[in-house]
Amino acid sequence: MSDLRLREDLSAIPDYKPGKTTTQSAPTGPVFKVSSNENPYPPLPSVASAIADRITHINRYPETAATAVVALLCERFQVSPVNIVLGSGSVEVVSQLMRATAGEGDEVMFAWRSFEAYPMLVRAAGATPVAVPLTADHRHDLDAMRAAITPRTRLILVCNPNNPTGTTIGEDELTAFLDAVPADITVVIDEAYVHFNERTDSPSGIEYFRRYPNVAVAHTFSKAYGLAGLRIGYAIAPERLANALRKVAIPFGVTDLAQAAAVASLHAEGELSARVADLIAERERVVGAFQDAGLDLPETQANFIWVPFGDATTAAAELLESHGLLVRPFAGEGFRVTVAEREANDLLVRLIPELAALRT
Ligand code: PMP
Repeated sequence: MSDLRLREDLSAIPDYKPGKTTTQSAPTGPVFKVSSNENPYPPLPSVASAIADRITHINRYPETAATAVVALLCERFQVSPVNIVLGSGSVEVVSQLMRATAGEGDEVMFAWRSFEAYPMLVRAAGATPVAVPLTADHRHDLDAMRAAITPRTRLILVCNPNNPTGTTIGEDELTAFLDAVPADITVVIDEAYVHFNERTDSPSGIEYFRRYPNVAVAHTFSKAYGLAGLRIGYAIAPERLANALRKVAIPFGVTDLAQAAAVASLHAEGELSARVADLIAERERVVGAFQDAGLDLPETQANFIWVPFGDATTAAAELLESHGLLVRPFAGEGFRVTVAEREANDLLVRLIPELAALRT
């Protein structure tokens, strides 16, 4: 043990457990990592070549203003550059939002279960996490969240679609909630999976950003755009908040390669949307197979499926792992499985009868 004096509240920060990449068991066939909601497709050739073109520039720092990415996003969303702040993945953007709004003694609220990094990032910001349980049908309990607001609440995270349940919030419900939140509390709509949401009565967070001066949106290039390994995400936020985010952002946090890939991806929207459509079709196929086996799932609008499995969750994850499917289990609750390449989805579908047998 060293004598280093570290922060006393460090032990309150939960560890982030990344999705497994190796199996304990030895499956005979291929192993699929379906634990991190990644896009199974490799980069488009146009994106790969945009990255390759910038490789020779990596002796230089990236451009902090990320002008090209910001210009395309402004055009897309009809917002001003003052409203856009980039980060090293949307996880960093969410962290910026916390660090800009909340410190010691302040509360940051989110539904639970939701994205595992939330409580960790709140603690790292020195603030206090307030986790409001989901409803019995795995959705945000916005009434309970409203009731949990205190004079110390600084930030409320709304994850739509929610990770890990894939559930979404309808426009009426979210509008009523936003109408009730005091105007000095920032509400962040984390839309990492927005491209997979086909619900017609669940508009993009940008609509709420336009309507409410205290709403910000977090987006990522990691999921629909398939750039998880490059780390680039962004917030669309009211100007004053966006300026605050820039103050707490890590300098040079978004690499030149990530910026080049994001620009190429925004130019390749058509091809990427076709991939998203395929993943949505695959999602519906797998969900249908679970339903045919009599397993009831919450409606998912993301690129993953939440399978509530109660006490049999660990056994289910072990069974899947022994066949080469690395899912994300939450013991006693359920497991989350990414909709991935067809082979992985086929394997999952084949294993559903065995899974169902674990429940009986
Ligand atoms: N928000 C949610 C809800 C997520 O599930 C994730 C990734 N799992 C992120 C944000 C962060 O993604 P990234 O940092 O790769 O943009």
